[in-house]
Amino acid sequence: MTQKKTDLHRDTLAVREAVERSQYGENSEALYLTSGYVQPSAEAAARRFAGDEEGFTYGRYGNPTVASLEQRLAALEGAEACISTASGMSAILMMCMGLLKAGDHVLCSHSMFGSTIKLIGTDLAKFGVESTFVSQTDVAAWKAAIKPTTKLLFAETPTNPLTEVCDIRALADIAHNAGALLCLDNCFATPALQLPIKLGADIVMHSGTKYLDGQGRVMAGALCASQELVTKTFLPVLKSAGMTLAPFNAWVVLKGLETLDIRMQAQSARALQLAQWLQDHPSVARVHYPGLASHPQHALAMAQQSGCGGAVLSFEVKAGDADQARARAFHVLDALQVMSLSPNLGDTKPLMAHPASTSHGRLTEAQRQTAGVVQGLIRVAVGLEHLQDIQTDLDRGLLTF
Ligand SMILES: *Cc1c(COP(=O)(O)O)cnc(C)c1O
Repeated sequence: MTQKKTDLHRDTLAVREAVERSQYGENSEALYLTSGYVQPSAEAAARRFAGDEEGFTYGRYGNPTVASLEQRLAALEGAEACISTASGMSAILMMCMGLLKAGDHVLCSHSMFGSTIKLIGTDLAKFGVESTFVSQTDVAAWKAAIKPTTKLLFAETPTNPLTEVCDIRALADIAHNAGALLCLDNCFATPALQLPIKLGADIVMHSGTKYLDGQGRVMAGALCASQELVTKTFLPVLKSAGMTLAPFNAWVVLKGLETLDIRMQAQSARALQLAQWLQDHPSVARVHYPGLASHPQHALAMAQQSGCGGAVLSFEVKAGDADQARARAFHVLDALQVMSLSPNLGDTKPLMAHPASTSHGRLTEAQRQTAGVVQGLIRVAVGLEHLQDIQTDLDRGLLTF
């Protein structure tokens, strides 16, 4: 495949890194819709299936459009290689199937994405994989929870929906001292703001569904890591389990990466302004946003995320008890006329959600309490609309309890 264009700057790689043009000289990367590939000879086919020669054989194993996305995302994350999947969750499944066996132990933050907690804590437990969930921000708790069988540390920063920030370098040191790997879910910050591999992470996991696509169109996932992990540990799982990314979805995300940096800068700038406005709002009890000086890990976030808080914030409405808080949060969401009530995020359209009843709805009340996902909490994934229109939309509910 193409030579890595390592001497080019990030901005250039974001729009240029891809497999070679076809003989037609297309300027926009081609979308190859094919499930199979004609082989040049029986000998070549045998070598390709054995992995002794590069070349596409079958759609479950690889596709040139998918390869373009993988090359571009690897370049942006500063990783040797990348392997993409049909969704973010299937990327986590691929990682766990590749790295773990019965008896192994995974150490995770208890503030991770709801489905991640479910997949690792419940589904993988059926196959004998043990897991422990610890505080996102308590480095000593991570260290204390390490076991001789710990193979993987898995964190996400900033988290959904409370935007808690963990110290990637500190967790990488704990993992490596224990002979384990650190995987970082970089969905919220994206490589536009945060480069976990530079900070010591071994694997970067992505839900391409979110900011990488950036316009709420397709599902996608990916793992960025060393060439060896990708080829020897993850690719065999893809081949046998088939969590393959569709070429069309890969193409959409590939084009999304071209505008990732400018979208993240613009959406983060709006998020900071909205967070500052909410902080002074009479109906708001608390705002969670890493860009605010009041955020408990503000300094760490600014150092780790190129001085940027990201595009997601959450806030708690003022209320007397949990029932009133839930009713008031629902009132704010139901009053919206401009922003979309949607549990998704990573869109240019601002999206609002009630995490306790949606993304974290499958958790037990106890798990939700530990994760801090209270009933009055509302998450805003800030998009590209005008700040004043967003504020007016929120005030429709916030001023009419
Ligand atoms: C959405 C999300 C995922 C899961 O990705 P899907 O593409 O929906 O499967 C994982 N982690 C985080 C932080 C997410 O927001």
